[in-house]
Amino acid sequence: MNARKNKSNTPGSLRLSHSRLYRGWLSFLLLSALLLSQTGRAQTSPAPAYQRCGAVEYEKALARRHPQRVVQRAQLEELIRQQTAQTAFRSGNARTGEVIYRIPVVVHVIHNNASGVIGGTGNANISDEQILSQITVLNEDYRRKPGTPGFNTNPVGADTGIEFFLANRDPEGRPSTGITRHYYARQSTFDIYDDATLLADIAYWPSDKYLNIWVTTLRGDFLGYAQFPTAPTLPGLTDETDERTDGAIIDHRNFGREIGTVTRAPYRQGRTTTHEIGHWLGLIHTWGDEVCGDDYVADTPPTESPNQTEECRERFSNCNGVRTRNQIENYLDYSPDACMNLFTGNQRDRMRAVLQVSPRRQRLIRSVASLPESETLTLSVYPNPARQSTDLEIRLKGFQSFDVDLIDLTGRLIQTRRYDNFPSSLISLPLHSLAVGVYMVRVRTDRETTAKRIVVY
Ligand code: ZN
Ligand code: CA
Repeated sequence: MNARKNKSNTPGSLRLSHSRLYRGWLSFLLLSALLLSQTGRAQTSPAPAYQRCGAVEYEKALARRHPQRVVQRAQLEELIRQQTAQTAFRSGNARTGEVIYRIPVVVHVIHNNASGVIGGTGNANISDEQILSQITVLNEDYRRKPGTPGFNTNPVGADTGIEFFLANRDPEGRPSTGITRHYYARQSTFDIYDDATLLADIAYWPSDKYLNIWVTTLRGDFLGYAQFPTAPTLPGLTDETDERTDGAIIDHRNFGREIGTVTRAPYRQGRTTTHEIGHWLGLIHTWGDEVCGDDYVADTPPTESPNQTEECRERFSNCNGVRTRNQIENYLDYSPDACMNLFTGNQRDRMRAVLQVSPRRQRLIRSVASLPESETLTLSVYPNPARQSTDLEIRLKGFQSFDVDLIDLTGRLIQTRRYDNFPSSLISLPLHSLAVGVYMVRVRTDRETTAKRIVVY
């Protein structure tokens, strides 16, 4: 039962029913028997030399330090369940008029290079360009951008409607590049379990306003890890655990895409960070961290084990007596970077629910810093002309309520949607159900109105 006890530190496990425990245990026995019967066969998939992700082990260490974390995680799971039930997923495309969450990121580069030189072979004080390439990969992957490696045509594939940008203001409101650099003399490598607090002591911006990413050299061949979100344990209680270590910690040798110090094949496409930030947004590995475990995502099939190989070959699972294809292209598997291009619709719902209900994430997306204010109401539309969908950038002063109307050339109102008490926002507008032609988008606050023409082709 020791393995089961450990499982109690992973998300939502408090809600496991006995029948599920029994089924999981049964599949474990069946798999063991299967593996035993296959011993002696040639091993065709070499395991990579790296430890893909330390998030689950790290979370167990956190829970040992702060037992209330387990309760918070279980409570968050219930909040996610309620939230996703309200906004059931309908299609892979962004839903009508949905807000695009923009996450301000600060990258803290922690290095042991006394010279202060930036960039160059093997230098942990990596270049700005390397950092920017990672932000580009995140946006391609989370927005499923056409024409990039983050695009897919998978029927369950989704644009998550979540974007990342290097923060342009520091916590004191001064202009910033969103990159901080720190020479640390005492050690050159960091341990994923013991040094998270040390990294936060070296550099930390408030985690309810920024996504902190510490980039450094990790011990033990770990590629990276991230801290899961939590919920408060009691109504009105906001002192969540582990605020200062809330973020992702990524090794510089797999941070960014084919650039600078990124040398660790097959993890050179920046997908380690895509994966870890998935954890930061509440996603669980596709195999649920046990044989045929639950990731609380309906459209990822049950999976026996991670694709801990250097290959993109198809893999299959037999869970509960049903043979299913593993979703090896899912960012929450352990596949090599080149195989990955998929967040599913339900993973998207889960991440967006976390942004809406987990207190620190909720404060972060509501922070006005995510898009600049404007003294007067402004509207930009891009791309325009557009085919499948377009984004509306609405800037205003402070928080206001507004309506977004779509009108055709005859003046007929095609759709309208109300946004209550929003700051400047990016809003996704799907166009695929519209006929080719010219339309008008109109934004109305209590005091102001502005409009733009858009061409659908
Ligand atoms: Zn992971
Ligand atoms: Ca699943």
